[in-house]
Amino acid sequence: MPQYDLLIRNATLVMPDGALDADLAVAEGRIAAIAPELPGDARETIDAAGLVLLPGVIDAHVHFNEPGRAEWEGIATGTRALVAGGTTAFFDMPLNAHPPTLDAASFDAKRAAMQAQALADFALWGGLTPENLGQLDELAACGVIGFKAFMSNSGIDDFHAADDLTLYEGMRSAARLGRIVAVHAESDALTSAMARRAVAAGRVSARDYLASRPVVAELEAIERAILYASETGCALHIVHVSSGRGVALVAEARARGVDVSCETCAHYLALTGEDVERIGALAKCAPPLRDESEQAALWQQIFDGTLPMVTSDHSPAPASMKTGDDFFKIWGGISGCQSLLAVLLTEGYARRGLPLATIAHVTATYIAQRFGLAAHKGRIALGTDADLVLVNLAQEYTLHAADLLYRHQHSPYVGRKFRGQVVRTFVRGHTVVRDGQVVVTAPLGRLLRPV
Ligand code: ZN
Repeated sequence: MPQYDLLIRNATLVMPDGALDADLAVAEGRIAAIAPELPGDARETIDAAGLVLLPGVIDAHVHFNEPGRAEWEGIATGTRALVAGGTTAFFDMPLNAHPPTLDAASFDAKRAAMQAQALADFALWGGLTPENLGQLDELAACGVIGFKAFMSNSGIDDFHAADDLTLYEGMRSAARLGRIVAVHAESDALTSAMARRAVAAGRVSARDYLASRPVVAELEAIERAILYASETGCALHIVHVSSGRGVALVAEARARGVDVSCETCAHYLALTGEDVERIGALAKCAPPLRDESEQAALWQQIFDGTLPMVTSDHSPAPASMKTGDDFFKIWGGISGCQSLLAVLLTEGYARRGLPLATIAHVTATYIAQRFGLAAHKGRIALGTDADLVLVNLAQEYTLHAADLLYRHQHSPYVGRKFRGQVVRTFVRGHTVVRDGQVVVTAPLGRLLRPV
């Protein structure tokens, strides 16, 4: 009997404190040994000389639309795209599937759909809406990773925005239940009124849409959410922060003791408002893409540690929903989960000199810590799950639509040059991607619960 299931030799391991040239052994799905020139044998040995081994990405923000709207994406296609891009665990949002995840029955339905198809481990967000304040306890008992609320219109009829009282009372319950509340932070009062005014005047271009969701709408909502969190003692997470000033508000609140965190998304780091005008509807999202000065601020905050988390907010839709003359009517959501790590390796490591350890931190380590998964996930360390991605940093490629594994092969990243090809992806030691190709079809994803 070989001593290990898997031996990865000669890779550069991206450890929490920096790079380490060593061998890594896996047994029973966990990292069993790390050392230079490890003695022993394994059922499979990989010579990874010249390659970099990172912790698998944990994408804390995707919408896979299943059950109920699998024609938009689906778990099978969505998770194929994830693992191809180096992601080994993900948190699915409570909306854009139907029914939305608002109670135990809808949680169970989504969990069953995930277990039947997911190629990566998963956690499920529960919703916080005016209709389900009475179901937060049962959702916590089911094991939701947290509760997601919208402070502005969600864009979909079956998931209603949380008014202030819902948000305040929901945070009180979440504090009691020990769960994080995540908010889409944009002022509905500002964005709805500005959108109505623009549409009434016939101003419906991409630039008009961007102008209807100014940074101040994000800042006002972030401040209000922080106030409620500080009053209730609830742990708060601001999803998809698009502006440096938004991240700064979160950092200031954290410094004075509020339990608050935030994420930005790869598209805010890779694309700007000018790209929305050039690319069109495929680059529509909310909050919208900003100008270069906000993007530069976000990068600076990743470098200095103020911004410790990046997600994809993969929010796919059929091509028919991503076309039209009225930019306000087009579905807002970017297909991008396959390219999350690629954006950070290319725009961060290769272009700006961002350390690989920082990339591991913002895509995995911090997320596992923040959401109660750090015992098994998020870093390369003895005893943790062997969720790993092996990358060839020397390899450049241009992303073509045919490379996308989404149900609908469109993305604002198509045509873009990337650096750093995913060679292998391992989920708990299982090879799910080999030589860049997804090689498993049998589902293996397990539910992750916060502890
Ligand atoms: Zn989202």
